Amino acid sequence: MEKVTVITQILNANDQIAEENQGLLKNHRILALNLMASPGAGKTSLILQTAKALTGRARIGVVEGDVASRIDADKVASQHIPVIQINTGGECHLDAATVQKALKTLPLSEIDLLFIENVGNLICPVDFRLGEEIRVVVASVPEGDDKPYKYPGIFTAVNAVVLNKMDLAPYVDFSFDAIRKGITSLNRKAKLFQVSCRTGKGIPAWADWLEAQWRSKNKSGIAQK
Ligand code: MG
Repeated sequence: MEKVTVITQILNANDQIAEENQGLLKNHRILALNLMASPGAGKTSLILQTAKALTGRARIGVVEGDVASRIDADKVASQHIPVIQINTGGECHLDAATVQKALKTLPLSEIDLLFIENVGNLICPVDFRLGEEIRVVVASVPEGDDKPYKYPGIFTAVNAVVLNKMDLAPYVDFSFDAIRKGITSLNRKAKLFQVSCRTGKGIPAWADWLEAQWRSKNKSGIAQK
């Protein structure tokens, strides 16, 4: 008799755990964001500004991913925002299993929007799902307008691009049209926000969009929690 081989497509281990995380977050009506960027683009500053803008509208929680230190988690905790610091000890990205451990220690019933701040780089994080609904890349003006051309993978994979440090645009060689063209040539659907975390300009539009994403996932919003 001919042997029949059944090939079952299985998710790889990381994706399986990411799905568990997604289920857990969904049960708690939490919208999770995987926030990616180069080091110094302003991920933590964006989290702090967004939390301020959404005060009384949505409750923020944070998972901080860094190779070492708890500098960013201390900054977030000083604003009375629930936060867990993950130190990857050299790994260039977070993975679903590490995030799952963090989720077990966060007060999930007190969080509406969960920022997962990934390790700073534009390459490795994109290959590892964490259980997020939304993926965002922060690019900053001093990094240059060529980032989408050099790192197409990450710009293709995101729902939104936040262009930070717009206040520095007059002082550096930076073309908004060039970066916008680079982004739209890869990803027509990505929302593009221009902000300055230093001055607060552009933060309201970004925060409104994020709140709308959360509300559309949980039709009845905070009242249901
Ligand atoms: Mg940071």
